[in-house]
Amino acid sequence: YAAKDTGEPFRHWSPALDERAGEQARLGAEIRTALDAGQFRVVYQPIVAVPEGRVIAVEALVRWEHPERGPISPAYFIPVAERNGLVVELGAWVLRTACEQMVRWRHEWGSAAPDRMSVNVSARQLARSGFPQTVADTLAATGLPPACLTVEVTETAVFQGGRAVEALHELRALGVRIALDDFGTGHSSLGLLRTVPVDILKVDKSFVDDITGAGEHRVIAEALIHICAGLGLTAVAEGVETAEQAEVLYHLGYRLLQGYHFGRPTAEVDFRPKGSSLLTYADTGGGGSSWRV
Ligand code: C2E
Ligand code: MG
Ligand code: MG
Ligand code: MG
Repeated sequence: YAAKDTGEPFRHWSPALDERAGEQARLGAEIRTALDAGQFRVVYQPIVAVPEGRVIAVEALVRWEHPERGPISPAYFIPVAERNGLVVELGAWVLRTACEQMVRWRHEWGSAAPDRMSVNVSARQLARSGFPQTVADTLAATGLPPACLTVEVTETAVFQGGRAVEALHELRALGVRIALDDFGTGHSSLGLLRTVPVDILKVDKSFVDDITGAGEHRVIAEALIHICAGLGLTAVAEGVETAEQAEVLYHLGYRLLQGYHFGRPTAEVDFRPKGSSLLTYADTGGGGSSWRV
């Protein structure tokens, strides 16, 4: 086929590239089988309010337990499903599963249940004309109030423009919140925050990683919290692995944190109030998930 002139250097064919393409095609076909065989499941990671430690939301993350290859990372298979279109069906299943779980938790935990369930939505799902209707149908079928759902989209998905932005307006009209995921890693400008309906900005892990150093990441994280405050957006810091990072983020003004320090993604989450203060977070090292009172 004719290559588009993207200004990128020409990529020569190599056995490695060919192998990779073959591998992706195989994996793509296997996603179909996996959907039918029920090999996917959903785990949930807490998003915690500091300093009080309440789990105010959970993020649904899909998992694939491949019968021969073992667990495969969504960072690898979601892009494959995105290319072959199966992400639409897989995503609808994740949405349904997460909403059902949230309804169960609200029933079991009452006021201790998290306020919101956050579900990742890929570019291709968002661009499909039926997506807001799928969300409305899922909420109606499960009985989850729209205010209990957040949809996480990336800057890149939104930047494809057209239908995607329209879909976000329709979701907003339903009462669903919109989060911009991995913020700061895409190619968007800050102008996006004015033109796109957004409620929550998830500051990418890459800015959190070096936040205890003196470098520019701290400066960016600090600027982003001011932008959120000024624009009336809720800020969430992603990928918080240590007590030190949590403390720095707290002092910068972050009040919602997510990361291994507060809990890894799991099938069941314990929503009992921890009654802990920020300064007593246990740093278990190595990205431990425990939280000590
Ligand atoms: P994401 O939405 O930005 O999710 C956060 C990712 O970071 C998750 O990886 C999570 O397990 C990981 N993470 C959370 N805290 C920490 C931490 O403290 N340290 C480190 N190193 N990692 C942390 P996961 O589950 O492998 O998912 C990767 C990406 O795959 C997600 O990034 C999201 O873009 C995509 N994804 C996952 N589930 C779905 C889904 O159901 N639908 C769609 N469309 N995409 C999904
Ligand atoms: Mg996410
Ligand atoms: Mg993210
Ligand atoms: Mg990410």
